[in-house]
Amino acid sequence: MSGTKGGLKGAVIGNPISHSLSPVLHLILAERLGMRDFTYSAVEVLPRDLRTYLDELRCCPEFVGINVTVPHKEAILAELDEVIVQARAIGAVNLVHLKDGKLIGHNTDYIGFLRVLDDRKIKLHDCNVVVWGAGGAAKAVLHALGWRHVASVAVLNRDQARSKALISAFTPLFPKTRFYGVVPAVLTRVGLVVNTTPVGMRGYAMEGDINATSEFFSGLARISPEPDALAFDLIYNPERTPFLSLASHLGFRCVAGLDMLVHQAIESWKIWTNSTSESLGEILPSIMPELRRALAPPIFLCGPMGAGKSTVGSILAQRLGWDFVDTDCLVEAESGLSVSEIFEQQGEQAFRVLEKKAVLNSAARTRTVVALGGGALMTDGTLAAVERSGILVYLEAKTSALVRRLQVSENELKVRPLLSPAKSDGQISVDSRLENLVKARQAIYLRASHRVQTDNLEPNAVAAVIIRLTEEGEFS
Ligand code: NAP
Repeated sequence: MSGTKGGLKGAVIGNPISHSLSPVLHLILAERLGMRDFTYSAVEVLPRDLRTYLDELRCCPEFVGINVTVPHKEAILAELDEVIVQARAIGAVNLVHLKDGKLIGHNTDYIGFLRVLDDRKIKLHDCNVVVWGAGGAAKAVLHALGWRHVASVAVLNRDQARSKALISAFTPLFPKTRFYGVVPAVLTRVGLVVNTTPVGMRGYAMEGDINATSEFFSGLARISPEPDALAFDLIYNPERTPFLSLASHLGFRCVAGLDMLVHQAIESWKIWTNSTSESLGEILPSIMPELRRALAPPIFLCGPMGAGKSTVGSILAQRLGWDFVDTDCLVEAESGLSVSEIFEQQGEQAFRVLEKKAVLNSAARTRTVVALGGGALMTDGTLAAVERSGILVYLEAKTSALVRRLQVSENELKVRPLLSPAKSDGQISVDSRLENLVKARQAIYLRASHRVQTDNLEPNAVAAVIIRLTEEGEFS
């Protein structure tokens, strides 16, 4: 395999997977290795489809292997032909190597984690560590810490049965380290605190709930850090998480998960290409700017129907080289019905539930222009999610321009349920209905950080204005 220069493939599997940075990262690494024909995709695999996916993979010799993420890291162990001893001890696999038709499981998370600490010259021997979380990533972290003989590790998790199970599993493996579950009133000589949970991740449900997040990490306040102590959040998007903000106030140096992500990916390549070359590790600083660009937050376009969100959005996305999504289209894909069919058959409330899900999913994306449905921001929680995760641009237009663009006709009324004459206002003209709708939603639209007056502009020109705003750094 190492002799083959092109045509090889890789993938990352998980569910959800659209947020994954792995495709960008592995394509950059492949390019640096001179494998320009290498292709890499993100594949959504449901737990019930995992075995079938792996059976098919065994018959695809063009694959070097796959990366594995939530929720398969633990379940996949039972499905592989071989599991490397460290991965078996950790109880989680994040990398599969396809070799001679066999699937071999590895864990490169623990190596990535240690590389970050080594880069920062953190001396783990004899120090006290506190870890939040008890999932697959926590297992890799605990294994790495035990391996390096830290004095103690407190494992704090929402589900205490899960942290207790981890403590019981790791205690006999690493007798020099004390694993325990409750942080005492004061904990001294702490050299490292680690968040291995998704709390604080862009688009994650609890992201904006500052109180819940602070409460979850409240143990931090009882910790007295060593002078050079490090706070390490495995989350890489955003790079400044609530955990790191709290820790930096307490005097910790901070590191986000991006370096670990790159290190574990580099380890993947060493295994896939049977390379021991250390030079791969040296490319890390040079690829960081590219990765940070890949993490650019979404741009949301809001405004009434006819404002041009979809047309401008797709032009804008094309010009930026980003993805484009339209929340109405996401709803239609999810439900298998058109928007007007959902309104007719299930009512507006059912539509809003689906629409909110589409907005929250879009908020977790990077490098994406999102056209929001005209009423999407009226639903409780959507505006907050959008404001937290990206940039909101209001496409303004006078009613006369909206009507002109919509060319309101009988056909248009069929696909725009809110413009159809309701029983109560059957006598009101379409123009007035549109005007009333805009008035009712205006206050929410005006919350946007940026407004573009579109009355006399073609969609291309509107997209150009938005790009100019980004280039001028007005979005930072
Ligand atoms: P996982 O196996 O699903 O475990 C998730 C952990 O987070 C569990 O301990 C869970 O607690 C906890 N958790 C989830 N939601 C929570 C909430 N709302 N409040 C409190 N605790 C919550 O996932 P994983 O594979 O360990 O991954 C965890 C994180 O690490 C993800 O953000 C992932 O992106 C990141 N990660 C980063 C890298 C990297 O290279 N930077 C590598 C691996 C993982 P319960 O047990 O109570 O449910």
